[in-house]
Amino acid sequence: MRIARFSVNDEVDYGVVEGEPGAEEVAPVTGHPFAPFTFTGYRYPLGEVRLLAPVLPSKVVAIGKNYAEHATEMGTAPPEQPLIFLKPSTAVVGPDEQIRMPSSSERVDFEGELAVVMGRLCKDVPAARALDAVLGYTCANDVTARDQQAADGQWTRSKGYDTFCPLGPWLETQLDPADLAITTTVNGEVRQRARTAQLIHDVRQLVAYISGVMTLLPGDVILTGTPAGVGPLTDGDVVSVTIEGIGTLTNVAVPRA
Ligand code: MG
Repeated sequence: MRIARFSVNDEVDYGVVEGEPGAEEVAPVTGHPFAPFTFTGYRYPLGEVRLLAPVLPSKVVAIGKNYAEHATEMGTAPPEQPLIFLKPSTAVVGPDEQIRMPSSSERVDFEGELAVVMGRLCKDVPAARALDAVLGYTCANDVTARDQQAADGQWTRSKGYDTFCPLGPWLETQLDPADLAITTTVNGEVRQRARTAQLIHDVRQLVAYISGVMTLLPGDVILTGTPAGVGPLTDGDVVSVTIEGIGTLTNVAVPRA
């Protein structure tokens, strides 16, 4: 099931996206998708609503160097334990929103990633039960001011600018995350191509590890790491992250006003 958060007629709702490509409709639900919901009975053509970031997380927990080839391109060995860092909730934007590149950075990179959205409050979840706590999956772009990441020695500034965490286009709830194709394009040119089977620490391990550190709340997001092929964005670049079984998240990079 595809669950979207969207606005229409100045209202924000959650809804289920149904139908064939090109003819999808959104069926709004009452309440939110973290509990049993019912349909309102309305339906909107997908093209008549504005898709928003599918969740408003209390926190985004991201993983560094979780594909071996990306660790190599960063000039380091992959960490033995997951390397976790936080992106602020205020970095989240939705599909088709602008990535605003700050003038303080000489190099802002895209990082296409599989995002995991938690469905329930959890702490100390064993890996064997980790997927039970997941509501669904979406596409993410872990936008990074690469020069500031190197200069600062920690990543809060470089990963934390407003608009540096596009999410979308919706959550897919019925998906096995074990081996999905992930592709990032810039202006239509393929820049990253991998499969989630190449994750060093898989989704189960990540949920178990992170929930052993901090309580995860419904709607919290885990970014699972980016494959090799990261690179800089320039003014007007159109960057798309496509994940098999989910869809495509597209954003345009522009200088911050
Ligand atoms: Mg990343």
